[in-house]
Amino acid sequence: MPAAPSSCSDVILPGATLGILGSGQLGRMFAQAAARLGYRVHVYSPDADSPTGQVAAAATVAAYDDIAALQKFAASIDVVTLEFENVPTTAVETLAQFVPVRPAGRVQHVVQNRVREKRFLVAAGVSCTPFVEISTGAALAEAADSIGFPSVLKTAESGYDGKGQAHINSLEEATAAWQALGQAPAIWEGWVDYQREFSVLVARSPAGALAVHGPLANDHVHHILDVSAIPHPALAPHAAAAEEIACRLATAFDLEGLCCIEFFLTTAGELLVNEIAPRPHNSGHLTLEACQTSQFEQQVRAICNLPLGTGEIIQPAAMVNLLGDLWQSGEPAWEAVLADPRVRLHLYGKTTPRPGRKMGHLTVLAETAAAATQRALAARARLTGGS
Ligand code: AMP
Repeated sequence: MPAAPSSCSDVILPGATLGILGSGQLGRMFAQAAARLGYRVHVYSPDADSPTGQVAAAATVAAYDDIAALQKFAASIDVVTLEFENVPTTAVETLAQFVPVRPAGRVQHVVQNRVREKRFLVAAGVSCTPFVEISTGAALAEAADSIGFPSVLKTAESGYDGKGQAHINSLEEATAAWQALGQAPAIWEGWVDYQREFSVLVARSPAGALAVHGPLANDHVHHILDVSAIPHPALAPHAAAAEEIACRLATAFDLEGLCCIEFFLTTAGELLVNEIAPRPHNSGHLTLEACQTSQFEQQVRAICNLPLGTGEIIQPAAMVNLLGDLWQSGEPAWEAVLADPRVRLHLYGKTTPRPGRKMGHLTVLAETAAAATQRALAARARLTGGS
C-alpha cells in the first residue's frame, strides 16, 4: 500500500530528503540551496554524471517510465519537485500516489502545451499575445485574416528556446512552416512589438503564502536568454501590475512551488504574458547573489511549506549566459574573468560544449544594473580573448 502523501499543512523540515525530477543546472542549483538548508536531495533522471547528480546526495539513473525505479525513488523522499516541465505524465502520476508532487501534475499538464497554456491565461483574465489555435489548414487562413503578419507559428508541444518556431510573413510561409511541423497542433501568434522582455518569479506555499522576485529585464539572442538584469528603470512603473498578474496566476494554479512568468512590455505600454515555467528560470540565476533569498532557496521553502523568503534586492546585478559557442576555439580563459573579484563564475559541470548549450553563467553586482551588465559583458568577452 502506498503511504498517503502528506497533507498541505505539513512542514517538511531540514533533514528530510527532497526529490527532483530532471538533472540539469536548475536541479544543481536547487540541490546546492537545499543542502545549505540542511536537506538531502535525491535526483531522478535518465542521465548519469549530470549537473544535478554531481552535487546531489543521491542519484537514480533510470527512465521516466520505469515504474519500479519510480516507486523505489518515491520511498526514499519526502516531497518531489521538477526542474523541467516536459517530464512525462506517467512519472508524475506514479510519484503522486506516494509523495506530494510540487508543483502538481495539473500545472505541468497546462504548461506542456501552448494551446492549454493560452486557454489558462484567458480563463484567468490575463492578457497574452494575440493567438489562433491551429489544427487544420483552414485555421491558417483564418489566422492570416484575423492576426495578419508578421507572426510566429509555434508547435503546441515540446518547443523551447525558439525550437519548433517559425517566423511567418505570408500564408504560403505559414503553410510551409506548418508542414515542416508535421501539421502538429500549433499556435499562430502575432509578432509583438515590444520595448522589453521581462520575467517575474512567484512562489506559493501549500499554506497559500505568496512572494515574488523581479521584474527581471531579459535580453534574448537567437531566442535564447543572453542577459538578465535587476532592477531595470523602465520596468519600475510596471512592477506592481506584473506582480499582481503573477500572484493571480499562481493562485489560479493553486501553485505549490515556484513559477516563472515571462512578459512582454509592448511599445504601447501593455503587459502581455508570453510563457509560464513552473520551476526556477534562467533569468532568476542572479537572485543567488542579488537578492535576500535566491529563487532556488525559495523553491525549497515553497515545496517544504516553510515561511517564504523575500525577493528584496541587496544590490543591482546582471547575469550573462555562457553558451557552448564560447568553447569553439578551445577552453575559455577562466583566469581572465576570475581576475575581476566582482565577477561570480557559475559552471554547471557539463562535459560536452555544443553551440547554444547552456554551460554556465556570470553574475556581477554593481551600483546600477546598467553598470553590472557592462561589466558582465566585458568579462564574458575576456573569456575568448576580448579586452
Ligand atoms: P518562447 O519559446 O515562446 O518563449 O520564445 C522565445 C523568444 O522568442 C521570446 O523570449 C521572444 O524573444 C521571442 N518571441 C516569441 N514569441 C514572440 C512574439 N509573439 N512576438 C515577439 N517575440 C516573440
